[in-house]
Amino acid sequence: MAHHAKNLKPWKKVAFGTTLILALLLVGIFYIFNWKIAKTSPADIEFAPQAESQALQLDSIPAKPKNIIFFIADGMGFSHLSLAMMSQEETGATSVWQQFDVRAWHDTRSTYGPITDSGASATALATGTPTFFDVIGMDADGNSVANLFEVASANGYNTGIVTDSYVWDATPAAFLAHTKSRDNAEVILKQTAASEVDILFGELEDLGQGGIPELEETMEILEQRFQVLDKSLVLPDQKYPLLPIAAIYEEDELQDLESQPNLPKLTTLALSYLTKEDTPFTLMVECEEIDSGSHRNDSKRVVKGIKVIEETLSLILDFAEKNGNTLVVFTADHETGGMAAGVDFDEYPNMQIIWASQDHTASVVPLLANGPGSEEFINVDRNWQIGQILKSLIVTKDSIP
Ligand SMILES: [Zn+2]
Repeated sequence: MAHHAKNLKPWKKVAFGTTLILALLLVGIFYIFNWKIAKTSPADIEFAPQAESQALQLDSIPAKPKNIIFFIADGMGFSHLSLAMMSQEETGATSVWQQFDVRAWHDTRSTYGPITDSGASATALATGTPTFFDVIGMDADGNSVANLFEVASANGYNTGIVTDSYVWDATPAAFLAHTKSRDNAEVILKQTAASEVDILFGELEDLGQGGIPELEETMEILEQRFQVLDKSLVLPDQKYPLLPIAAIYEEDELQDLESQPNLPKLTTLALSYLTKEDTPFTLMVECEEIDSGSHRNDSKRVVKGIKVIEETLSLILDFAEKNGNTLVVFTADHETGGMAAGVDFDEYPNMQIIWASQDHTASVVPLLANGPGSEEFINVDRNWQIGQILKSLIVTKDSIP
């Protein structure tokens, strides 16, 4: 062959070389294409929405709790829960997850289809109404819907938000505001300041960008309602009525358990403030870390987020047990990252986190509940039913003899 090739005319050599390069390119493209198919396995499955479930028929006289603590773990699916349960630090210890009487799930879809965002989902959870992406506190036609906090405040409850995200982020906003877009930071801030909420603990982010007010203006808006605590976090003495308070931090200042303060510490502070009075309360606690970590497929950040959630839930469950008459509901707004908790058999039984996506997925998510009223959550299948039940568990003034 070599001898034969040597005798080829120059133009034939060029043709031979070109054919060879083209053939190699084709083989390469074939392999890349195949590898891509293997990696993403696209399969078009038609979304087939069933009829919206009926609003749940509640027991005629449900056991109504005095206090409601609602924990939203942004982005946490069943694989995140599996990872939490498989990686407990103390061997043989009872986990917080095992302490819930009701262990159920819900489907997080929005009116847009199988996927949701934190705006649509938090609106469903806070108001009991399904809606479109990005919407805060309104139905899909743009009508404002009363949220849990508004129903609670109207009936004499104190209310509070503790989040490790920024204070106008979609999840807290759905409990405080009504606007067509979660990006309307200034509108959300102003409606928060005009709301009846008593506690607002969280971060600020992207100040001065994309319509978000600068720091000075943000604080001016918040100070219209709240006494802003300094870093010492000393609570005001006044009781009856509680002075509305806020604790405001910079972006990612509340990130994990090493942060000073962190989500468990702020939750403890909120509970001690709310129990200065004998007034019933509803408190919404949000951990954003699983969503943030899962969008980046950052496994370490997710594991740290799980630890924050477990420590916060543990103190909430302890509080509920000591205080009594407190309903604790835990859920996620959607799953993020298509995470799987797997293993590497070379390192067995150590766990490995595998990611399928950097977005929200259509997975169903955990729904856990404990305390008076928890049995109402057993038959939930859609996110908005949770909001309906929570609103129905508020003791209304006219029902008090
Ligand atoms: Zn997200």
